[in-house]
Amino acid sequence: MKHIQILIKPASSLCNLRCSYCFYADISSMRQVRSFGRMNPEVTEKLIENVFADLADGDYLTIGFQGGEPTLAGLKYFKNFTALVKAQPKNVTVEYAVQTNGTKIDEEWCRFLQQENFLVGLSIDGGLEFHDRHRPDAAGRGTYQRVLAAKRLFDRYGIRYNILCVLTREMTTQVRQVWAFIQEEEIAFIQFIPCLAELGEEENEFAVTPRGFADFYSELFTLWQQEMQRGRYVSVKLFDDITNLLVNGVVGACGMLGRCQMQYVIEANGNVYPCDFYVLDEMCVGNITQQTLRELFEQPLTQRFICDKREYQTCTDCEFYKMCRGGCQRMKDACYVGAEDDGYCGYREVLKKVLQPLLTMAAPPVR
Ligand code: SF4
Ligand code: SF4
Repeated sequence: MKHIQILIKPASSLCNLRCSYCFYADISSMRQVRSFGRMNPEVTEKLIENVFADLADGDYLTIGFQGGEPTLAGLKYFKNFTALVKAQPKNVTVEYAVQTNGTKIDEEWCRFLQQENFLVGLSIDGGLEFHDRHRPDAAGRGTYQRVLAAKRLFDRYGIRYNILCVLTREMTTQVRQVWAFIQEEEIAFIQFIPCLAELGEEENEFAVTPRGFADFYSELFTLWQQEMQRGRYVSVKLFDDITNLLVNGVVGACGMLGRCQMQYVIEANGNVYPCDFYVLDEMCVGNITQQTLRELFEQPLTQRFICDKREYQTCTDCEFYKMCRGGCQRMKDACYVGAEDDGYCGYREVLKKVLQPLLTMAAPPVR
């Protein structure tokens, strides 16, 4: 039984917001073709055919949609996509996820997302102040209230969602403000996505630093524990991932064990790339309209990418090496050993603080 995950960009890098730190705007600006536009029906059909070619009865397939802003592909695109998947003759369990800025979500979208049981990642940046500073629309207007309206619709329709919050350098010093937002908005699931410098740069004004990363999560952990003692559990993805790795041996995030994985990132024209951070011309491993997933996995470029080893000085005597091995290479400068690799590691500091308490919490009660 296989479990395959693919990530589709049905509207390429198109987006109706102008977020100050958008990593995909940065990546796509380095390509010859910045945006491949919206995925057309021929590409969609061939994509599904070639994805299913290597699957067998009993397999699992997770299909994520991301952007840019994927909802710009239109609800018709998504309805057509799920109908084509249902028509596949193989008995494969398919799960859907979509990451959205929420501004296009209305009741019709909600009915569809509910019907197809999508897991939604909704981008909201830690409260009005942070959000509207960094996530304006194309006219420069804040989008916080519109995104909150989408969140309320998701609540009303019982749609599964988690909040995706971009962790900027500034935010790492304002943990209490972020926590107050989580409480006020009664957020049950939240994932912090570290803001990174442009590809090839060591830092920029918004990018997280390893020290900021460690300080943020250390304080957050204290607040999170206090909340738990009051009887309310908030799912914070990093804490969940660490617990799952320790207790169940399950890797919850790419790069958590220091290895790159083939993510099958599919652009709107069918081009395939191994990782969302590297959707670059020189990293294109093929095209899903012409190759199956197995063929794409066997490409020498894919193999080189997933076999690349991290070798950082700071890691050599790290007590957590076996459960990290240097982490995600793209996040090195922001969260791990930093550009300097001078003996400090943000993630190690977080593990020092959270590991033992998480293990204690996960242990079954003694009878
Ligand atoms: S760069 Fe990071 S996210 Fe991308 S494949 Fe490697 S470990 Fe995963
Ligand atoms: S030093 Fe940091 S990156 Fe290296 S193995 Fe330890 S925790 Fe991971």
